[in-house]
Amino acid sequence: MSKKLDPVTQAIRIQTPRSQQQEHSTPLYLTSSFTFDEAEAMRAAFADETDDNIYSRFSNPNVDEFIAKMCALEGADAGFATSTGMSAIFSSMFALLKQGDHLICCSSVFGSTFTMVTKYLPKYGISATLVPAGENEAWEAAVQPNTKMVYLETPTNPQLEIIDLEWVGQFSKKHNLILNVDNCFATPLLQRPIDFGADLVVHSATKWIDGQGRVLGGVIVGRADLIKDIYLFCRNTGPSMSPFNAWVLSKSLETLDVRMQRHSENALKIAGTLQSNPNVSWVKYPLLPTHPQYEIAKKQMKLGGGVFCMEIKGGLQAGRKFLDALEMLSVTANLGDTRSIASHPASTTHSKLTDAERLSVGITPGLIRISTGLEKAEDILADIEQALEKSTK
Ligand SMILES: *Cc1c(COP(=O)(O)O)cnc(C)c1O
Repeated sequence: MSKKLDPVTQAIRIQTPRSQQQEHSTPLYLTSSFTFDEAEAMRAAFADETDDNIYSRFSNPNVDEFIAKMCALEGADAGFATSTGMSAIFSSMFALLKQGDHLICCSSVFGSTFTMVTKYLPKYGISATLVPAGENEAWEAAVQPNTKMVYLETPTNPQLEIIDLEWVGQFSKKHNLILNVDNCFATPLLQRPIDFGADLVVHSATKWIDGQGRVLGGVIVGRADLIKDIYLFCRNTGPSMSPFNAWVLSKSLETLDVRMQRHSENALKIAGTLQSNPNVSWVKYPLLPTHPQYEIAKKQMKLGGGVFCMEIKGGLQAGRKFLDALEMLSVTANLGDTRSIASHPASTTHSKLTDAERLSVGITPGLIRISTGLEKAEDILADIEQALEKSTK
């Protein structure tokens, strides 16, 4: 075909070359290593003179297929797939930063990312300044002569703050910084950070990319020169994705577009309805006009994604009662599943913090995060409404 295929089509049609069995669906390449007929071929592979597979810590056909699809979707030159989202984030930082370097990081990032940046980076002599989303002067003021990278996620987890990718792209370019974006919540179907100047995009493939709560995975895509350094770091330190997980995730990418449309449609409908529920004080969703950064969200996101949050009247106690009163929604530590999931950060993920500490990271006592699944919107809404009713009694 002469016409370049749309990324959505590429995510369906990119495929490992067929074997002599003429299979339609890519087989699983569960093999630790690959054989060579001649010593010369093996020498050439090790010398990087050929692209032949050597060992599955370096590359594997299933993993390569998944990476190729992710590159097509994100508009990236190259990529590397990892065992988890955290190992993708870890590798993207530790492969490129060295002792004495400085990182600018958005203060609202995923919990383990926060711990990595504040506890482990400093241990290796890499300092970080945390800056609040949207406070552009604070980002400018954080730049130091040794600043090397900017790291952020948008929408953030769980407060759904939106960072202006166009602004941060220009900011990073002006100061010659590597812009590294966690695109987990939006997925490339709703937002492509590379189009706004991001150099690297990282993902927890565990979430919407798998979309069915089955396997863990991560991926880093972006500029070929940076990915080369990340690849060499990973090849030698070992966070590689398993071929089985890559096979699952590659299949999942074939349906990501339709799933994200339905997730977003459900979330918008349910969040919009709950805005007038007497038992909640506010509802937050990127594409509801009441969201503080609605205009930015509208500018950079095609749809609002599957997550919304709300504040239950009655605080901590009501939040706990809400979880207990749910009849259909799952109470579990994940998101991005076909099944809707509810979580209450103040009594779970953030329960060890004091009230003041929680507030400083935007976790209010009655905050509930809903990962909207693919069930009928009416069923999800009905369960939330009956649980809200019981939670404030
Ligand atoms: C879950 C998550 C991660 C971590 O991914 P794992 O696959 O669990 O390691 C990173 N960033 C965001 C935004 C997440 O939601």
